[in-house]
Formats: sequence, C-alpha cells, structure tokens
Amino acid sequence: MTEERGKSWSPPWSATVLTLFPEMFPGPLGQSLAGKALKNGIWRLETVDIRDFARDKHRSVDDAPFGGGPGMVMRPDVLADAVDHVAAASRDGGRVIYLSPRGRRLDQAMARELVAQDGIVLICGRFEGVDQRVLEERGIEEVSVGDFVLSGGETAALVLLDAVVRLLPGVIGDGAALEEESFAQGLLEYPQYTRPQNWEGHEVPEVLTSGHHGNIRAWRRAQAEELTRERRPDLWERYLRSAKSRG
Ligand code: SAH
Repeated sequence: MTEERGKSWSPPWSATVLTLFPEMFPGPLGQSLAGKALKNGIWRLETVDIRDFARDKHRSVDDAPFGGGPGMVMRPDVLADAVDHVAAASRDGGRVIYLSPRGRRLDQAMARELVAQDGIVLICGRFEGVDQRVLEERGIEEVSVGDFVLSGGETAALVLLDAVVRLLPGVIGDGAALEEESFAQGLLEYPQYTRPQNWEGHEVPEVLTSGHHGNIRAWRRAQAEELTRERRPDLWERYLRSAKSRG
C-alpha cells in the first residue's frame, strides 16, 4: 500500500478540525463508507474546540472589525493558540488549511495531493472570517469549496474530507471505480445504466448489453468526451492540451 502511493505513509490518515462547533463532526462522514473506514481506523478524526482557547471569562472568540463594518472577526490570539496546540501534538507539523471562499479552489487533483500526506489540519471560520495576521504568521493555506459563501467552514471541511477520505486505500471496495469516475482522466464520467433493461419504454444503449468489452470501452470514452465538451469547456480545453502533449 505504501509503495503504491510512492511515499512513506502510515495509516491512519488523520484529520484535525478546529471549529466552534465540534458536534458537527463526523456528521455525514460517520455514515456509509467513510463512517465504516473511520470505525476501522483507516482514518482518524479529531476535533478541537476553538473556544477552549478563549482568554476571558466570557470565553469570547471574536470581536468587531477594525475599520468598522458589519459582523465579527475571529481573534488571532485565540485561533493561534488553538493552531499551535495542534501543531505541537501533530506528527509532522503537516499542512494547515483554512476553509475560505478566497482560497484555492478544491478539485480532484488537490484531493489526491492531500490523500498522499499523513493528514491535515482544517480551520473552520465563522462570522466574517478570521484576522488576517494569524493566516500570515502561521503560514496557513486557504482552500475554497466553490464560488459561493457558506455560513461557516464546517460544511466546507466535511466536503473536503469526503473527497479525500474516499481516495484512501480500502475505503471504496473496488479501487477500479476511482480510475473511471469523473475527473480521474480529466473527463466527466460517461452515463450509467442498470436494471430494468427497459424502463418506461426506454431501452439501455444496445452496446452495453453486447458483451463486447472493446466496444463498450470505446462508447463510454466517446460519451465522456462529448459530455465534457458540452458541459465543461474549461475541462475539455485542458484535456485536449494534455492529450496533445502526450502525443
Ligand atoms: N466574509 C467572508 C465570508 C465569511 S463566511 C468573505 O466574504 O470572504 C464564514 C466562514 O465560512 C468563513 O470564515 C469560511 O471558513 C467559511 N466559508 C464560507 N464560504 C466558503 C467557501 N466557499 N469555501 C470554504 N469555506 C467557506
């Protein structure tokens, strides 16, 4: 397993989540395949309550923004203490990611990059976000799950973790499924069909019941290409370019 991944990785892959709402975890990741993998120790999940690092008797974690404006901002001193606490305990001082709409956009390539590491530390923001200085001083990366604004980083962290955990060896029964799915080859996935073969008068495409594996593969590839060209010109461009450079 380790060799396959080309690095010295030792399970379990570990996620540490800094949040004001630890009870939101594992949430949906406690179910189904990710949940089973969590129980089986393929990955581990630790939450750290940022409020535990508050310094005053009101346990406040946020304050009004300098310069005015709406909302509150998470304090750098409280957050830095939480980050430092986690870094001190972690195996390799691994990557620290702040979920943020300003960040680099999460994609399948990033998920593959993250699964190749021992684990990650995720910071979930609330309110208007966090004080800029803590991001700079602690070398924290920003990652976005898309061009929209969520009310907190927790759902974004769940999305990121889901995308990564399902890539861990042993989480999805059939590893081959990972090689065919959307984005694996730079294309969206081909359409899928199952029984009944005739549903409401619609037959499944004939080639799929032909038993001819070469034709099936060619048909699926053509469908994937067509779908990608129609729906995602950005992916299609990149696919053409990489096909050209492969020769
Ligand atoms: N004022 C900020 C938005 C704050 S939303 C801005 O305009 O950029 C509150 C928190 O939700 C953020 O701190 C962040 O942790 C999380 N969040 C919101 N949208 C997100 C997205 N698209 N990706 C990742 N995290 C997001």
